[in-house]
Amino acid sequence: MKITAIETIRAESHPNLLWIELHTDQGLVGLGETFYGAAQAEAHVHAYLAPILLGRDPRPIERHWRAMIPYCGYVGTGAEMRALSAIDIALWDLGGKALGVPVHQLLGGAVRDEIRVYNTCAGYRYVQNRPAQGTDNFGLPEEAARGEYEDLDAFLNRADELAASLLEMGIGAMKIWPFDFAAEANRGLTISPAELTKALEPFDKIRRALGDRIEVMAELHALWLKPAACEIARALQPYRPFWIEDPVRMDHLASIKDVARASTTKIATGETLGGRAQYRSLLELDAVGVLIMDIGWGGGLTEARKVAAMAEAWHVPFATHDCTGPVALAAAVHFSLHAENALIQEMVRAFYFGWYGEMVTDLPPLRNGLIRAPEGPGLGLALQPDLKRRPGVTVRRSAL
Ligand SMILES: [Mg+2]
Repeated sequence: MKITAIETIRAESHPNLLWIELHTDQGLVGLGETFYGAAQAEAHVHAYLAPILLGRDPRPIERHWRAMIPYCGYVGTGAEMRALSAIDIALWDLGGKALGVPVHQLLGGAVRDEIRVYNTCAGYRYVQNRPAQGTDNFGLPEEAARGEYEDLDAFLNRADELAASLLEMGIGAMKIWPFDFAAEANRGLTISPAELTKALEPFDKIRRALGDRIEVMAELHALWLKPAACEIARALQPYRPFWIEDPVRMDHLASIKDVARASTTKIATGETLGGRAQYRSLLELDAVGVLIMDIGWGGGLTEARKVAAMAEAWHVPFATHDCTGPVALAAAVHFSLHAENALIQEMVRAFYFGWYGEMVTDLPPLRNGLIRAPEGPGLGLALQPDLKRRPGVTVRRSAL
């Protein structure tokens, strides 16, 4: 079997998303995905990765992974690493299809049949239109355009009702980010008592209404400098959050240690890092409660195996990121079924029940707060057959 063409697919409606299809002479197609900087990652696929892969047997994935590592851009989650990650996911999909087994089997087998999810409380259009995170990319809906799961608007205004509606679906954990407005207003330098009280309101409402029946994660989006992050961590402690995520920017890891020491709450972090060396440095701090990795950013499934195994050796739980796209979610679920120390799977119900299904043929089935891998070989899903012909969708192709 050999790779005969590499296609990159982008949709104007979701400019952050990049899909990759690896086509072979046997008619099998491998699907991958990454998110953010789609044009940059796409350029790297065609300029650098296509000549490495075209004409090659896709099955020796480890060999390809090593060949795809560039002289610079080999750590972090820059365009080179995101492009490599998407290709790596597609290689695993193809590997599974070639053998007729699901990706979790190819990884070495599943240690569980399903895994618990938490809902990242975004709305349908969260981070859809702009190439960055920030409150201007919250995608808060006009009254007329509201769907059933406008969970970002809900956590800001009706956190208790939102928590109850998640519990009703069997989802027992939720993530919210009510601190972002104050972070942007103050450039992360400080948070006033009034801002802190306002940001804590959703946590307060949830605990008052539901007690401990639901777990709540606090997402800080790496928007704070260390003193304010420590203050927030201390203020959150009475609400017993499940974790505090990304309190500071991940370019000075020692700060994570100080924030972790500021309270007893676990710090969860890592999704903006890529490559095993960055994760090793993070684990060496001995301060991280949960290691988060985005498989579509940090090196694909090949690197996720190594990073999760390393975290296991440090006795640290592992959690895969999803607030991006349906293929990365499927890859993450396969991985979470396989990895012994996988703690919980992120999902966004507004995406899952909203636009994810418009893009792909199948999604990992979700039942009573538990998610499992789609049936079938490889990842178990493909792009919707008409997707490439839709208006606003562009395909770029490198072929033998
Ligand atoms: Mg996050």
